[in-house]
Amino acid sequence: MINTQTLSNHYEQMLNLTKPWTVSAVDLDTVNLRLTIRVGTIQGEKLPCPTCGRPCSMEDHREERAWRHLDTMQFETGIVCRTPRISCPEHGILSADVPWAGAYSRFTELFERFAIDVLKAAQSVKAAAGILRLSWDQIHEIRKRAVERGLARRKDETIKHLGIDEKNFLKGHSYVSLITDLDQGRVLDLAPDRDEAGAQSLLNSALSASQKESVEAVAMDMWPAFMKATTDSIPKATIVHDKYHVATYLGKAVDMVRRKENSHMIKDGINTLKGTKYLWLTNPDIWSDKDKASFRQLAIDELKVGRAWALKELFKHFWNYRYVGAAETFFRRWYFRATHSRLKPMIDTAKTLKRHLCGILAYLKHRITNAVTEGLNSKIQIIKSNASGFRNFQNYRAAILFHCGKLSLYP
Ligand SMILES: [Zn+2]
Repeated sequence: MINTQTLSNHYEQMLNLTKPWTVSAVDLDTVNLRLTIRVGTIQGEKLPCPTCGRPCSMEDHREERAWRHLDTMQFETGIVCRTPRISCPEHGILSADVPWAGAYSRFTELFERFAIDVLKAAQSVKAAAGILRLSWDQIHEIRKRAVERGLARRKDETIKHLGIDEKNFLKGHSYVSLITDLDQGRVLDLAPDRDEAGAQSLLNSALSASQKESVEAVAMDMWPAFMKATTDSIPKATIVHDKYHVATYLGKAVDMVRRKENSHMIKDGINTLKGTKYLWLTNPDIWSDKDKASFRQLAIDELKVGRAWALKELFKHFWNYRYVGAAETFFRRWYFRATHSRLKPMIDTAKTLKRHLCGILAYLKHRITNAVTEGLNSKIQIIKSNASGFRNFQNYRAAILFHCGKLSLYP
């Protein structure tokens, strides 16, 4: 048999309460399956000033307030307390800090920790909200605070390799800019838009002055806004156009050649290129035996897309050079072939690459790619598809930093 005093002591121990905090009552509502722990303070005792920590006497109490706590068995459990106000000779009359929750939170720290774990593991905010029996707004609030804590706790550590990339946001054509710490594989921050001003303010707000000094190279697409923002904000860093972005340009050019050639052939009643898109764009190393057989059947030397494809494949050798001089010689030869191919998309792409040759050659020295970002991108893709839409950019940012920022999130 448990008497009331023992029960109070039991909950005091569970909540880790020490004098002057005491459990004054425990109410069990068996109809609504609710357990309410009432906490009070022993009169005449002192409490620390929330600003300076000096022990101060209690002045009065605020109105009753409730905090959601971890469930007790199947009972939704809450703490109810009239928070005491202390009188500090220096700071005046202030609400005392309660030991179970952070200021302004409606949840106890243990509950917030649990909610963070559930949010991390859950497929979606909706699923987490269901498990925790919280509203969407409450979940967003917990997540937002966790991210704010994590960002405030970030250390001013050296970042040698940065990635800057754009990411499609919501449906349609809105984009966000995102910067990543490539060595640690984490998203540093994101900003709305992908213009120069957005990228610049992102670099300036996410990186401290000493971090900017420490950045050696930045991997990015051949996107003028990002290049300009980087040159302005971190002038010492080398711009690197990584192999994945270059491969995307070449792939798009090959596909343009294929589409045009295919439509001409179809007009002449020839279906050779129908359904071959995949073959021209994927890496031959991952082709199945069936893919290989279908490719052999295409007389690629006689096809325009075949010649475009050969140029794309040839360019792969570029990445294997260890010396810039040899790579430049290779590029000159490749450029000659590409610009004499009589294939407009290939000629255009070759010219684009030539304009950015400095950044492409820089890859050979720094060997950084946004592939880390691409890995994070697939994670972001999952976050996006599970969220079934974000009401605004801030929610989107919080979700990405929560899952991909490698932040210390707990209270
Ligand atoms: Zn004080």
